[in-house]
Amino acid sequence: MESDVLENYRKAGMILAKVCQEARSKVDVDVPLIEVAEFVEGSIRKEGAEPAFPCNISRDRMAAHYTPGPKDESTFGESMTKLDIGVHVDGYIADAAITVDLSGHPELVEASQAALDAAIELVTPGANTADIGVAIERAITGYGFKPVANLTGHGLERYSAHAGPIIPNKVLDRGTTLKEGDVIAIEPFATNGSGRISEASQTEIFGFSGHRPVRSPQARELSKEIQEKYKTLPFARRWLVGERIDYALSQLLRAGIIHSYPVLWEVEGALVSQAEHTVIVRENGGEVTTRLQGSI
Ligand code: MN
Ligand code: MN
Repeated sequence: MESDVLENYRKAGMILAKVCQEARSKVDVDVPLIEVAEFVEGSIRKEGAEPAFPCNISRDRMAAHYTPGPKDESTFGESMTKLDIGVHVDGYIADAAITVDLSGHPELVEASQAALDAAIELVTPGANTADIGVAIERAITGYGFKPVANLTGHGLERYSAHAGPIIPNKVLDRGTTLKEGDVIAIEPFATNGSGRISEASQTEIFGFSGHRPVRSPQARELSKEIQEKYKTLPFARRWLVGERIDYALSQLLRAGIIHSYPVLWEVEGALVSQAEHTVIVRENGGEVTTRLQGSI
């Protein structure tokens, strides 16, 4: 990996670690979600970086892809909250998540954290992602819970938050071999339910797919803005300003110019915890970019 690329990955990771720690201390029962989301995104920009995707705040049965809408007034309540944060520096991404538990289920939080720790230990050139899946599933079932089977970790590439290879959260027949210079996000999810998630009807996060013809001038204008500001990275409905945004968004969706990231939730309504770090595959093992300096 070229040294300037490595520096950008490290810078993005350090900013994320700092912002994430500050955000953790802000999460509380009576605090509005939108306050924390805006704090996270604003702090990233203040540090001279950009959000790689909207601050995801998914509570309880929601596993991923929720971010407050423009008029969201909900507060955290006594929830199991996942904060999933993305930072990029010149397109080089850091992606990490923590669970802040206000619901009184500390073991469920420990399970995904222990799974992440076990997985990171295995990262080295030549390691097989199937073995990472085994370690994650074993750690979580050791706590008496289930891994969420149909959510996975992933590779990171410049301006691509979801590249290959897939990093499984369960035992798989065949994986892929990691090589030096790969950048991966490992993100185990643990649940006290069935371990299956599905798409909810709500969507707050979208991403640009490609140019297509569209008639509406508002839609054309919005498409231009999205591409300039976010390229192929996910963006929040909350970030868009202007008249008739929801109409323009629906036109872009229908034309296939953007795609949606629907909220993902546990099918039985059970609780879900998550832990995530970004790891660079180095010659001697994994370098975690999203850990605070001096912490283990
Ligand atoms: Mn993430
Ligand atoms: Mn991720």
